[in-house]
Amino acid sequence: LFAGEVTFLKGVVAMSGLPAADRVEVCFAGRSNVGKSSLINALTGRKGLARASNTPGRTQEINYFALGAQGYLVDLPGYGFANAPVAVVAKWQALLKSYLAGRATLRRAFMLIDARHGVKPVDAEIMDLLDRAAVTFQVVMTKADKMSAEGLEKTLAQTRAALARHPAAYPEIVLTSAEKGIGLPTLRAIIAGLD
Ligand code: GDP
Repeated sequence: LFAGEVTFLKGVVAMSGLPAADRVEVCFAGRSNVGKSSLINALTGRKGLARASNTPGRTQEINYFALGAQGYLVDLPGYGFANAPVAVVAKWQALLKSYLAGRATLRRAFMLIDARHGVKPVDAEIMDLLDRAAVTFQVVMTKADKMSAEGLEKTLAQTRAALARHPAAYPEIVLTSAEKGIGLPTLRAIIAGLD
């Protein structure tokens, strides 16, 4: 993966809209405001490719990006909106569940966790879904630049403890900062190694 150009393919609102499962894909999930758009933009070197997802109206869309002709990068809608209507949350969770349980070509889910906040109950719920769907997930810590080394150690320890409860968790945590460019080559290499 990651050999070719990254281009936006489509926004999907229902399982029927998913592109044919004919190539490997990785997905990015995280609470709204975790820094998912910033990370995807930094990772792909394309400013503005992934739009900030902090408007409730966009919470139900799964955005597909083509990684050359070999794979898909999937930007899942941010979850955990404080003020999202219950019906919106229910619809989005149903789509997320169907996607995570039914996508045979999904190689890995990257779970974005804010370095300042660690794993929240709503993150653990998504991790439970991934466990049940037997989709390997890997934690990507975002906004590492906002924390001291000591603060980072605390979040890492809390996250490792949380991951120990999830059989589908990949043990290695990737520390990143979209702003400072930390961890991007590592993450690119991990994705490149998945094909
Ligand atoms: P999304 O809702 O998960 O897509 O989050 P965004 O990418 O829109 O980022 C949410 C906020 O966090 C914005 O104000 C970003 O500028 C900020 N942010 C994102 N990544 C970083 C980072 O690596 N470092 C810092 N300091 N701020 C970041």
